[in-house]
Amino acid sequence: MKSESLRIVYFTDPVCSTCWLTEPYLHRLKSIWGNAIDIEVRMGGLLPSFTESQKEGSILQDMEQFVALLEELEQSSGMHLDGNSWKTNPVSSSYPPSIAYHAIKKISPEKAGPFLHTLRTMLFTENKDISRQDWLEEAAVRHQVDRDLFREKLSDGSAESAFIDDLSCKQHFGVTRFPTFIFQSTDGTEIREDQSFNSRKGDDILKHWNALVSELTGREIPSVGIAETGLQLFDQFENLTTVEFAIMNGISEEMAFQQLTDAANEGTLSQEIHRGISIWRRHSGMEVIKKSRFNDKSIAIAGMGVAGLAIANGFEKAGIPYSIFDRHFNEHQSGFGFLILENGLRALAALGLKTQFLKVANPLHYYSAISPDGTILNSTKLESCYAISRTEMVRILSSGLKSDSIFKNKGLQMFTETSDGVQLQFSTGETAESSFLFGCDGFHSAIRKAIMPEAILERTGGRELVCITQLPEDDFNLIEFTKVIDHDKRCNTGVVPLRNRMVIWFMQLNESVEGMVTKNAADHYQLACKICDGYPEPIRKLIQEYSKNAPIYLWQSNRMNLMPSFHKGRTVLLGDSAHPLLAFTSQGANSALEDAVVLARIFSEAGNDVRHEELFELFYKERKEAIASYIAQGDMLLKSFLSLGTQGADRVPLAIH
Ligand SMILES: Cc1cc2nc3c(=O)[nH]c(=O)nc-3n(C[C@H](O)[C@H](O)[C@H](O)COP(=O)(O)OP(=O)(O)OC[C@H]3O[C@@H](n4cnc5c(N)ncnc54)[C@H](O)[C@@H]3O)c2cc1C
Repeated sequence: MKSESLRIVYFTDPVCSTCWLTEPYLHRLKSIWGNAIDIEVRMGGLLPSFTESQKEGSILQDMEQFVALLEELEQSSGMHLDGNSWKTNPVSSSYPPSIAYHAIKKISPEKAGPFLHTLRTMLFTENKDISRQDWLEEAAVRHQVDRDLFREKLSDGSAESAFIDDLSCKQHFGVTRFPTFIFQSTDGTEIREDQSFNSRKGDDILKHWNALVSELTGREIPSVGIAETGLQLFDQFENLTTVEFAIMNGISEEMAFQQLTDAANEGTLSQEIHRGISIWRRHSGMEVIKKSRFNDKSIAIAGMGVAGLAIANGFEKAGIPYSIFDRHFNEHQSGFGFLILENGLRALAALGLKTQFLKVANPLHYYSAISPDGTILNSTKLESCYAISRTEMVRILSSGLKSDSIFKNKGLQMFTETSDGVQLQFSTGETAESSFLFGCDGFHSAIRKAIMPEAILERTGGRELVCITQLPEDDFNLIEFTKVIDHDKRCNTGVVPLRNRMVIWFMQLNESVEGMVTKNAADHYQLACKICDGYPEPIRKLIQEYSKNAPIYLWQSNRMNLMPSFHKGRTVLLGDSAHPLLAFTSQGANSALEDAVVLARIFSEAGNDVRHEELFELFYKERKEAIASYIAQGDMLLKSFLSLGTQGADRVPLAIH
């Protein structure tokens, strides 16, 4: 007797690359057969321990060969299989992500599959060790699962027992390969498929499964038309490649690419190209930079900091010709790092750089303000807050730019407006003519001084020591995102962990307090050591022991009112040159990214005939409110910082930078 419905027990593992390639077909099978099939996902415990498995002579023993194999599969499948993380930070065990899968299933069953997909994206695209608790939490948060609830489910033992149950089930069926599928009909027929992907490729596997389900259920293969809009997939999945989208919707790759590109042009999706493969994601409220008709003018961008490089990326996307130069640029440009917040992340997505960013940025989940003796004054849960070094950020922003548009070690010395352009004069002695000048030359912008001489930077009485240093693993693990609020010494000390054991620390100082004004590097170190004496051990050690030989920079904290405009004639300012912000706001780099995306979008929507003044005015109109609010926020935080330790200072300055 034929069975009306069918159970498919699917044995998989979060680190299984063949499962990753097979799953879009399984998804398609489910959408064809609907309730006629029930897919039961079981975690198979493929990797109990990376170290043990290397000793046992598994495929992981010859890492070069393993990574090469993944690369080959990546080429043939069109799905990401970047194996480099296995060389640098391998997944120590696939048990934690398997248990995490069950924790999510208990919280929200429909999110479990997409969560597993995100874990694999993190492993195969972002090079993350997904056995680590912080990455598991990050994946949960990406699916809007409450972090505390997730932690609770991970620790109450129920997810672990579900995983143990999976392992018994695996033993019961004698499963040794992944993926293994057991097709079970209600009449007791059982067919095991554990060679599927090795012996069949692509659509063949689907044909084979369809025939099998049809035979076991005695039903015709349902004819499912081409999905009108398969874009709902992005309601479940955080991201998809073109190939996955094509398979899941049963359409050709060409058709999939067209649908996805259309959706990106309409602003529903963003496209990122990573190792030659497109990744698409939904991003609500995201800016869209389209291919532009504005292509017969030349744009000169002065400054290869965050704003300049970001707008160059925007122009690359829009197909607008540009050239970008910096007075002394190199990829390892000194500097520290930034906190990238929700707005910065959205801007990076619009530029198609989010995946690259997530690969190297450190997500920060909590921020604590503490007193010098370690008492917690306030602890805040953070969503979408990442720390990244300036070097990494500059590397990401430079990676997609055409080398013939970039001019390093070429400073702008003078510029004069002509009737139809701007005449530029460089430190190299060269001259050039450009239709427009985009001033991205930073906090002390000479371009701003030239076009807006009335805009003045005011000293605030605040200053900041900043240092970036590397720690040994054990000490690095003790560093959390923290700020010490010291009322007695009237200063704040913050520590921000980056990736690769790097930590930024900064001390916000009040010039009016005796002894807080330092002159040279040795003085900076001595002062920092004096201030942190008695602070909780990891912070004291970070400064006194590990920063002895690290360069410590001194920043003057200046402020400026919002300017009445960001442009004059054919010159427009963006980033710090348009609005130098106080470090308290943590908005310097974020707002520079936002500026660039807004301006690139405005230009991408314009035709060649549009008057440039209109575009620049629109840019100012769109940005002025956000900038005014960052300035007001900075002023408020500065005020509460300067009043630290004085009578009536009842506020704790809780800026996260
Ligand atoms: C070295 C450095 C380190 C920093 N570290 C931090 C930090 O730790 N935390 C933080 O919040 N912010 C930091 N900032 C500020 C932060 O980078 C800015 O808020 C943010 O990057 C704004 O980007 P921007 O492109 O407007 O300016 P910037 O990133 O400052 O870039 C300006 C660029 O213009 C170039 N330039 C200047 N004059 C000329 C000229 N005449 N011709 C050609 N090029 C020129 C500079 O060399 C620089 O590359 C740092 C800035 C710099 C330059």
